[in-house]
Amino acid sequence: MAATMKALRKMRAGRGLSMESAPVPAIGAADVLVRVKTASICGTDLHIYGWDRWSQGRIKPPVTLGHEFCGVVERVGEEVTAVSAGDFVSAEMHVNCGHCHQCRLGEAHICQNLRIIGIDQDGAFAEFVKIPASNIWKLDAAIPEHYGAILDPLGNAVHTVLAGPIAGQTVLVTGCGPIGLMSIAVAKACGSSTVFATETNGNRRAMAQKMGADVVLNPAAEDAVARILAETNGTGVDALLEMSGNPTAIQQGFKALRAGGRASLLGIPTENVPLDLVNDVIFKGATVQGIYGRRMYGTWVQMTALLKARRLDLEPLFGERESLEKFENAFAKLQGGLAGKILLYPNGLSG
Ligand code: NAD
Ligand code: ZN
Repeated sequence: MAATMKALRKMRAGRGLSMESAPVPAIGAADVLVRVKTASICGTDLHIYGWDRWSQGRIKPPVTLGHEFCGVVERVGEEVTAVSAGDFVSAEMHVNCGHCHQCRLGEAHICQNLRIIGIDQDGAFAEFVKIPASNIWKLDAAIPEHYGAILDPLGNAVHTVLAGPIAGQTVLVTGCGPIGLMSIAVAKACGSSTVFATETNGNRRAMAQKMGADVVLNPAAEDAVARILAETNGTGVDALLEMSGNPTAIQQGFKALRAGGRASLLGIPTENVPLDLVNDVIFKGATVQGIYGRRMYGTWVQMTALLKARRLDLEPLFGERESLEKFENAFAKLQGGLAGKILLYPNGLSG
C-alpha cells in the first residue's frame, strides 16, 4: 500500500481548499483505517471553504475536511474486535471523551470535550480516514451506498423528528436545506399528519414538495403563520422542527406552534434571536429543546431501521457525483443553493 494519498485540505487561514498529497494515517491499537468510497459535502464545509468568522475561530490548518462518508475497512488496530477488514461502514464523526459528566450520564452527543473528525482533525475528503473503532457504524447490505454517505445529516434529521411525539402530529419544518428536506421525509415515514414547510429559496421549495411536504410556503411572499393557523383551525402545529437558523423563521415557527406543542431547534443562528417568551413559550406551555448531533447510538439504530424498512426515499436530494479532484465545481454549485447533496469520490468514481 502506498504511503501517501490524495486529500482535500485547508492548508492555511483564508478562502479555499486544495488537493494535496498527505501521508496515509497511521492507526493506533483502537483505531480503524477506512478506504473512503463516497463522501458528501456539508454546509459546514462550505463555511470552512469560505473562511467565515466561525471557521476562523475553530479551524486550525492544515486539516483534511470531510465528515459525511462511507467506505470499506482497510485494516484495524490490534485491540479492535468488532470491526474487520472488508466491512462496509460509516462513522459517527463526533468523538466523545467517555469520562465527562454527560458521557457518564449516557449523553455522549453533548460531551464537554467533543472533537469532530473533519473539523478538529483529519477527515474523509481523502483516500483513507482514521476513525476510533468505537465510532464505526457497520452498514447493512440493504442500505444503498450513496445513502451511506449522508447518514450524518440524516441522523440530525432523525434525532430532531424523533425527539418528541410524531405519529398523527401536524409538523412545521422551517428551512428546507438538506437537513430540513430529510426531516420532511422522516416525519412522513414516522406517521406525521400534515407537514408544512417554509423556505425562501424556490429550488428548495420544489424539493420540499418532492420529499413529501403537504403545504410548502414562501415566507418572503406570503404570511406563512396566518396560512398555517388557517389550515389548523387556528390551533397551530403540534411540532416545530427548526432547520434554518434564520431568526425570522425561528420567530415565525414559535408563532405557528400550538399551545402545548414542542419546538425542536437544530438550525444554528449566527446572532442572538429575540423571542416573545411570554406569549410563545410560557403561556403556550411549549416544550423547547436544543438538538445537537446524533444520539450515540440510539439515533443510528433508529435511522438504520428506517432505511432497512425502505421507509425513506431520499433520491430527490442527490445531485452530481464528482471525483474528489473536481471539488471546485461541486462547492460552486452548492454555494449557489442549486444542488442537494453532491457526492465526492476520493478513490475515483469507480474506485
Ligand atoms: P442550509 O443552510 O442548507 O439550510 C437552511 C435553509 O433555510 C436554506 O435552504 C435557506 O434558504 C432556508 N431559510 C433561510 N431563511 C429562511 C426563512 N426566513 N424561512 C424559511 N427558510 C429559510 O443548512 P442545512 O445543512 O440543511 O442545515 C440546517 C441548519 O442546521 C443550519 O443552520 C446548520 O448550521 C444547522 N446544523 C445544526 C446541527 C446540529 O447538530 N444542531 C448539525 C448540522 C447542521
Ligand atoms: Zn465527554
